[in-house]
Amino acid sequence: MTEPLVYELSSPGRIGVSLPELDVDPATLPPSLLREDLPLPELSESDVVRHFLRLSQMNFAVDKGFYPLGSCTMKYNPKVNEDAARLPGFGFVHPLQDPETAQGCLALMHQLQLWLCEISGMAAVSLQPSAGAQGELTGVLIMRAYHHARGESDRRRMLIPNSAHGTNPASVAMAGMEAVEVPSDRHGNVDLEALHTLCDGTVAGLMLTNPNTLGLFEENILDVAEAVHSCGGLLYGDGANLNALLGVVRPGDLGFDLMHFNLHKTFSTPHGGGGPGSGPVGVSEKLADFLPSPVVKILEEGGEEEPPLFGLTTPAQSIGRMRAFHGNFGILVRAYVYIRMLGAAGLRRVSENAVLNANYLRALLKDTYTIPYARNCMHEFVAEGRFADAPGIGAIDIAKRLMDYGMHPPTVMFPLIVHDALMIEPTETESKQMLDAFADAMKKIAAEARANPELLHEAPHNAPVGRLDEVRAAKQPVLTRRA
Ligand SMILES: *Cc1c(COP(=O)(O)O)cnc(C)c1O
Repeated sequence: MTEPLVYELSSPGRIGVSLPELDVDPATLPPSLLREDLPLPELSESDVVRHFLRLSQMNFAVDKGFYPLGSCTMKYNPKVNEDAARLPGFGFVHPLQDPETAQGCLALMHQLQLWLCEISGMAAVSLQPSAGAQGELTGVLIMRAYHHARGESDRRRMLIPNSAHGTNPASVAMAGMEAVEVPSDRHGNVDLEALHTLCDGTVAGLMLTNPNTLGLFEENILDVAEAVHSCGGLLYGDGANLNALLGVVRPGDLGFDLMHFNLHKTFSTPHGGGGPGSGPVGVSEKLADFLPSPVVKILEEGGEEEPPLFGLTTPAQSIGRMRAFHGNFGILVRAYVYIRMLGAAGLRRVSENAVLNANYLRALLKDTYTIPYARNCMHEFVAEGRFADAPGIGAIDIAKRLMDYGMHPPTVMFPLIVHDALMIEPTETESKQMLDAFADAMKKIAAEARANPELLHEAPHNAPVGRLDEVRAAKQPVLTRRA
């Protein structure tokens, strides 16, 4: 059934809002802002509510069903976070307000900086960057500034394992540096021999994701850190997914010099569809002066009765700002509440259960799907979405068919070092029943791939739209409704 869209429902003169009476003098707008004609749909409140509710139901969300999107950590987002972010003191604060009148907000930011330091083993944190990828760019700019300040501007090459997230080389290119690929060995670790031959005086550093995108812990991490440091490079941690490490191991103790966090993944904020995000960057002592501004500091210690005075500061050799104002503040509130609700022991349980759930699923599926690099995984694992006896079936077909079972597909075709990759991250917030149901669906799909491959090729069968030409959708997007 095709339902009428808002433009077709529009009826001249229909109106859905009533504005309160003006209690100030009307101001005239600059003529350049005024138009004779603005063809917006005219609708009642109920038309608009139905329109948006219908759109929301065509979408899939973690609040609607299982969402094992590897490397994206689609965990359940506690609703108490939303309540806190909407408290008037947080929701209505203005970024240009005098900091003395926003002390509660700054206290929250300060505490969050400290907690992220404690969780990661870093010495200082800036909450500015507003996405994981922006955190990476921030980190790379800090590394560049550090080498520059030491008179080593020739260090322009950044080593990146081939199991890394695509944003890593992109961030390096944006910073005007050169990304150099490091191969993985057959266990899924960094190939140490190759690393040693690449390490020289032109290396700015190595960007490492640990656990890597295969969901595997880098077993030679101490040797990797040693190799990078011994040629004068810095070790950057892509900490987008800390779901396996919370309270168990601190990147700073493993030799990482700086890293970013994805608050919207590990620390629970609804995300996807391009935002919102928050990607704070943490650094060791020697890099603290390069952090982007602002960093929240205590300007005056408090007394018995007096709270301390917090302020926004700019580190001495700061790389500058990465965005306007103080970071994506609403997400900082959600991360603060999440950490505060769980406490240290709770955070550790998050990671223990995330790793347990991933290994449980891996064990359920390993006889049905090929899982290369057969060792215990961390918070996610990567399976091959293809079968020797079902030619023509690939990861895409399995992913699309999964939608017919009411579940979101895993991440597909990434990482590139696994054929037809299905990257599965169940997260700690799913029950055993849900994990069993997912494994059952995956096993049924594997049987269907042999018995009725067309069923998979033509999937999804009951989604709002059928199989799309995804390449054409990306290359020639139609972003407006056409008559
Ligand atoms: C998600 C992710 C990123 C990028 O984070 P965004 O917030 O989407 O920019 C970087 N690295 C890894 C490993 C990720 O999973």
